[in-house]
Order: sequence, then structure tokens, then C-alpha cells
Amino acid sequence: MSLLADRLAAVKDRITSRLLELERDPSEVTLVVVTKNHPVDLAHELYTLGCRDFGENRDQEAAPKASQLATMLHGEPSPTWHFVGQLQSNKAKRVAEYADVVHSVDRSSLLEALIKATEERSKALDVFLQVNLTEDENRGGVHPLELEKFTEAVLSANGLRLLGVMAVASLDGEEERDFELVQKLSQRVQTFDPTAKFISAGMSADFELALAYGATHLRIGTAITGNRTA
Ligand SMILES: *Cc1c(COP(=O)(O)O)cnc(C)c1O
Repeated sequence: MSLLADRLAAVKDRITSRLLELERDPSEVTLVVVTKNHPVDLAHELYTLGCRDFGENRDQEAAPKASQLATMLHGEPSPTWHFVGQLQSNKAKRVAEYADVVHSVDRSSLLEALIKATEERSKALDVFLQVNLTEDENRGGVHPLELEKFTEAVLSANGLRLLGVMAVASLDGEEERDFELVQKLSQRVQTFDPTAKFISAGMSADFELALAYGATHLRIGTAITGNRTA
């Protein structure tokens, strides 16, 4: 087995045993392997290992990778591409061409751009609302106090389907407090739409903790892919 296969298996084992401890159903959890900064060959190898959900955070890198992988797959079904990074409104149209899920919807200008971009799509674009758990406005995400208003705006948008909330925990040792807040905010969003019940949270360093607070979409990079090459 390759190193990549070993690391993937190890992460999957950790997810499975954590879910068992928490008495959670494994079918509610999606592992999104973040392939950013790695070449398309790595995504292809992960595909052959059974991965079907990939995460990217920059359009310049994601767009060619998605199309190259589609070519390499010779007609096999494409994986689901998750856009997990801060997204500029002027990139929304391009991202909507290959991404199936955008995890980082966090402001009205981006929302407008995505609505416009989805006019040409045959199926709805799945989105998460990213919430900012810090006081640092540069980190992206809506302020928790703005969440309800923004939820209503997304729910009234044609062409988008709201999956739930997304957050990046702060790296200050307070991840537990952060995930607890995300879970609370998720419940608030679900009062507007009970189907928007998913939580995108948990990365290499904190996914086991995130699972205890209801994370359904883990975005895991380095623990699987190793150190970034670019
Ligand atoms: C890079 C990235 C990840 C994965 O981070 P790792 O620590 O490598 O697991 C998850 N979410 C977002 C938004 C990222 O940009």
C-alpha cells in the first residue's frame, strides 16, 4: 500500500472509531479530502482509493484540476467538488461551472453573484453559510448576529440549496467553545429550514472534536495528503 493509502485508511479508522464512541451513524458523515496545493495525480490516486469528495480553496487551481481529473477518468463519474475557501464574487461564475458545493457563502455580494451564476446550471448549487467565530473580519464568514438575516436571503434564492453552516475553528485552544457555538448556530438555521441540518467543520487537527459537536462534513487535508508540495 502507498503512503497515501495508509494515511487515508488511518484517518478513516479514526473517524469510524470516533463515531462509534459517539453513537453516531457513519452514513451522516462525509469526508471531503482537501487536495489544494497538490497535483491532479494525487486527486486521481485518491479517486482510485474510493474518495469521491474533494475540496479546493482557490479557483485558479481548482478549475484546471477538476477538468484534468474528468479527462483522466475516461467517462467514470466525476467526484463531487467542494469549494472551501474565501471566494471573490468575480470568480463565482467560474466556480459554479465545476463546483457542486460551495462552503464559503458569507456575504450578500457573493450571494448575488452565485445566484446569477447558477442561472446556467441544470441543478441547484449546494451551499453552506460560513460563520466567522472570531473578531477578525479578514477571516471570512458572516458574523453570528447576521446569520438569521443571511439565512433568509439564501433560502429565498433560486438555484441554491442551503445545506447548513460552515466554520473554521480558531487555533487558540478554544476549539471546543467554537464548535459548540457552530452547533448552536446550526440549530438556529434549522428553525428556518429543517433540511439545512449539515455542519461543515473539522480539519486535520480537530476533526475528532468537531464530530462530537455534530460535524457532518469533515474537510481534511494534510492528515491524508501529507505536506503540501506547492
Ligand atoms: C486547507 C483547508 C482545510 C484542510 O486543512 P488541513 O489542516 O490540511 O486538514 C480545511 N478547510 C479549509 C477552509 C481549508 O482552507
